[in-house]
Amino acid sequence: MSYYIDRKESLTLWERLYIPEVARGLWVTLGHLLHNLFHIEDRMTIEYPDKKKTLPPGYRAEHRLMSREDGQIRCTACMLCQTICPADCIEIIAEESPDKTVEKRPKEFFINELRCVFCGLCVEACPCDAIRMDTGKYENSSFTRRELIYDIRKLAGNHPEGASPISAALY
Ligand code: SF4
Ligand code: SF4
Repeated sequence: MSYYIDRKESLTLWERLYIPEVARGLWVTLGHLLHNLFHIEDRMTIEYPDKKKTLPPGYRAEHRLMSREDGQIRCTACMLCQTICPADCIEIIAEESPDKTVEKRPKEFFINELRCVFCGLCVEACPCDAIRMDTGKYENSSFTRRELIYDIRKLAGNHPEGASPISAALY
């Protein structure tokens, strides 16, 4: 099956003359320019990075790993996020959990934030709500590529309000 846009409408004589439509477009642009000049409060642009916009709810930013109430990592190393990731940027090494309430836990958990396309599929696939993208952190620049491959310690502590109760001491 082929998909295409079937434009039924035909151009009027006025539109076919071309120049009037160009002039109309410029008039619209001029209107926006003048409006922005005299109504600073309505401007869509901001003086980033001095000013920052409030992110909308559900904005997919850097990942974080969640912990249970007892401080153990919530991830059970089921590999669903790694399997579903279209960018192949999650790598998990599982180990037997010392806590017998779950069978496995991640020994290592890497996310390559450089390769990630921030689709959110890993979050949706997780049956334990163990991985989230609600950190609000999106300025992930670095001098080296290695720094943007987050390991389990970084992910466990990558919380919007600071460090998580789950700490590197657990690993
Ligand atoms: S947001 Fe998408 S691309 Fe990024 S780690 Fe999750 S599944 Fe992979
Ligand atoms: S983060 Fe969730 S989906 Fe990914 S391995 Fe852990 S429990 Fe499974």
